[in-house]
Amino acid sequence: MLASPLDILALAAHRDDVEQTCGGTLLKMAQRGHRTGILDLTQGEMGTRGSAEDRAREAAEAATILCTSWRQALDIPDGRVENTWENRLKVVRVLREQRPRVVILPYWKGRHPDHYTASVLGYEACFLAGLGKLDVDVALSVAAGDSPTTVASLRAGRPQDVGTTDLLPHRPFKIIYATLYYDVRPTFVVDITEQFESRVEALMAYRTQFSDQEAGKGIFPARDEIRSRIESMARFYGTLGGVTYAEPFIQKEVGLVDDLILIPVKSI
Ligand SMILES: [Zn+2]
Repeated sequence: MLASPLDILALAAHRDDVEQTCGGTLLKMAQRGHRTGILDLTQGEMGTRGSAEDRAREAAEAATILCTSWRQALDIPDGRVENTWENRLKVVRVLREQRPRVVILPYWKGRHPDHYTASVLGYEACFLAGLGKLDVDVALSVAAGDSPTTVASLRAGRPQDVGTTDLLPHRPFKIIYATLYYDVRPTFVVDITEQFESRVEALMAYRTQFSDQEAGKGIFPARDEIRSRIESMARFYGTLGGVTYAEPFIQKEVGLVDDLILIPVKSI
């Protein structure tokens, strides 16, 4: 059965990326009654701390704190997010299943290759998901190297196969980019003053990553330090928007204004 479509889907390379870059915004949207979801491309098996299973548990807990309706992790290898046809198809499948109106992608530049690759991969998947002639299950089966018989039987199952009706073409209306990982001026910020504490709590749900411990001590900052870094960033972007805490985003399109009197953010 097809669940109701998501209003907003945030896609990121690693579990905890969404919590760090746009968790407050997702929570705020859920509090406004929108259905939100998170797609993690990888499962975190390359992390210095904790196993993929630990991170799955922590991700579920964080999703509960952020009041998301849906969360899933794909099986793309951690540390090796590549913009391949097969990986794009995996994301297309999710987009057609969940049918979000808004997709939040990572910014297209960054230090970690998984992050910027996830951005391009996500954008191209949003485009492909709208192509009427793309049968995603057949294409995935071909890409996975399944036998011609399997591919043929998948094809023969169309269009009567009830299981495929939820995979009709779908293209999101809006794509925005969460830019917190990169030093770039955002085109808008979302006020998360009310959601800030829950956002920190969602991030701290990743106990294997953020609690003070010996493993990886040289590369992971201590918990208090993490909290104050998160706060400084949120305050910085809050200042740009004239509020206490905010998260930064870029949209490629121009802003559309109806009434000049209602434009927010003071000029002088
Ligand atoms: Zn990451």
